Amino acid sequence: MADTVHNFSAGPAALPAAVRAALADALKVGPQPSIAEISHRGARFGEVAEELIARLRRLTGVGDSHHVLLLHGGANLQFAQVPMNFASDRVAGYLITGHWGQKAFQEAARLAEARVVASSEASGFVDTVYSDGESDHELAYVHYTGNETIHGVQYARPPTSSAPLVADLSSEFLSRPYPYQDLALAYAGAQKNLGIAGLTVVLLRHDLIHGVGDREGLPAFLDYRCWIDQDSMFNTPCTLAWYAALEMLRWIDSEGGLEGIAARNAGKAEHLYAHIDCSEFYRNPVASHARSIMNVPFWLADEALTPAFVQSAEAAGLLGLKGHRAVGGLRASLYNAITIDAVSALVEFMKEFERTHG
Ligand code: PMP
Repeated sequence: MADTVHNFSAGPAALPAAVRAALADALKVGPQPSIAEISHRGARFGEVAEELIARLRRLTGVGDSHHVLLLHGGANLQFAQVPMNFASDRVAGYLITGHWGQKAFQEAARLAEARVVASSEASGFVDTVYSDGESDHELAYVHYTGNETIHGVQYARPPTSSAPLVADLSSEFLSRPYPYQDLALAYAGAQKNLGIAGLTVVLLRHDLIHGVGDREGLPAFLDYRCWIDQDSMFNTPCTLAWYAALEMLRWIDSEGGLEGIAARNAGKAEHLYAHIDCSEFYRNPVASHARSIMNVPFWLADEALTPAFVQSAEAAGLLGLKGHRAVGGLRASLYNAITIDAVSALVEFMKEFERTHG
């Protein structure tokens, strides 16, 4: 087995060493109860919650225009909760650039009236798509997936629309400076760039929620207003995931905030794409302006070699490179915690694999 291991898993994903150490420290056996063993309503956890929300507000720059909610259920629950709250009297619009946008649309269509505004499905999800703007004024909102984790398609900046914009930012949240304040609603699970699974962050602009009338039959648990009224403690929160997120935010600041993180992330992606593009042995079909900085799917010219690539990579300490079952191939997820050294190790491995199998 290799001495050094690099984890390119798509999520749950690698944590920075400092965050792993902080979590281990927080859980170590001692005379006092650990952070995972105390009431979420007590003063000690209250400090965690307060600092977490304050840091999220500062890093996203949403200030007082948005509610910052800490929920459960992952992005999949948001696929349902968003239309249940906001699309009961108007049509919901969806921009579809991959698997997750498709899933969000299908769920909305089960619960409300939903329309595909634009989709890149016909061309195999290799590009971003935009609304022509003509009927956006009729829509309750326009939903897009900032970064398609499986297809590796990312909007360089949010699309524009006269309808409120709703963004699934699951796999790019806090990976770069982003105009969060321009979004009516943004959501992201924590398990990629913000710690461990269990926590879902929702940024919700005041005017969107205040425009909502009574939602007959909407369970309290799915009504954002219940979470707003109870400071995200409508029921017992996933306290350890909240604490992990706080440690991640402290770490992001120690790395130079979102500017520092973005420079690092861009350097990692450039390094990997440059190698894919200079070789006939590997390929990535996504339009260059829409290539994801976070998830780099790639294929071998001879796809029969894929299992051997995954197996040899694992033996070399490069984990989590198997592509998603929906598309096959290979994928390297380069979230915040991945170091440039990890990417260099991957590129060296790719060169060697090509040399021995090409
Ligand atoms: N949207 C995107 C863009 C994702 O990457 C994922 C998870 N990989 C999901 C939605 C689903 O997230 P969850 O498992 O938190 O529901």
